[in-house]
Amino acid sequence: MIVSVASGKGGTGKTTVAVSLALAASPVMLIDADVEEPNANILLHAERSTTKKASLPFPAIDMKKCDFCEKCSDFCAFNGIIVLKGLKVFAVPEICKSCGGCKMVCPQNAISEEPRDIGYIDFGERNRVSFIEGLINIGESSATPLIRMLFDFTDDDKDTIVDCPPGAAHPMVESTKHSDFVILVTEPTPFGLHDLKEALTITTELGKKVGLVINRADVGDDEILKFAEQNNIPILMKIPYDTEIAENYSRGTSPAEFSQEWRERFARLWIKIQSIVSPA
Ligand code: SF4
Ligand code: SF4
Repeated sequence: MIVSVASGKGGTGKTTVAVSLALAASPVMLIDADVEEPNANILLHAERSTTKKASLPFPAIDMKKCDFCEKCSDFCAFNGIIVLKGLKVFAVPEICKSCGGCKMVCPQNAISEEPRDIGYIDFGERNRVSFIEGLINIGESSATPLIRMLFDFTDDDKDTIVDCPPGAAHPMVESTKHSDFVILVTEPTPFGLHDLKEALTITTELGKKVGLVINRADVGDDEILKFAEQNNIPILMKIPYDTEIAENYSRGTSPAEFSQEWRERFARLWIKIQSIVSPA
């Protein structure tokens, strides 16, 4: 089972939920797919064991073979390869999508591929939580290829929890599309409701089962509750505003770590999701 933890915006407590759930449901795998700003390990404290470079194939041009026919640049829909007639042909790393098309259409076989590093994938372990984290290099135009690579390491024999990137754009789609269930973490405010609706548009489009975790549930209004009821979305958990949770968070400790009661609540949340995904 793959369970993604997502939210329409940052700062809702998504990572706190993902890490607490992983600790309570272990043995599991936890993937931090927020590759532009991974922070799950600030709460998990997994010991990193291995780091792999993440790379994509990138066109390399043999100018001894090239006759400047421009078939490569005509083919590339992204304008990712530039032909300077009589001078040079080169691909632009910030634009190229590594589709391999220019290599295929080159009549002179002048294009080969070489790896271009786009970031790192770290592996670690703590308390029977196998941890995988992606970190994209600064300046990369798209996080999606690195997020896609993280899912190559999932294990069919192990349940996986995914801490998704915030928002409702391509990275969120990529990190939820493999899931059996999506937890949407939200807050009972007008902004929370607005961003929840955007995130729901995506999960509905993807045909995913979803449920809500409402953070700081006792601060704000009840519009989220009404919306959930009208749209038949189960409310899986309410987390009140709690200074003990906030203080522990600021020290890098998740609720499932500092409180047995919260650990049990997250364990029950996991069982509830299992029963929704695979009803008896
Ligand atoms: S398609 Fe091949 S031969 Fe033609 S310009 Fe591009 S690299 Fe050169
Ligand atoms: S690999 Fe694809 S995206 Fe990149 S330059 Fe070639 S055709 Fe364009």
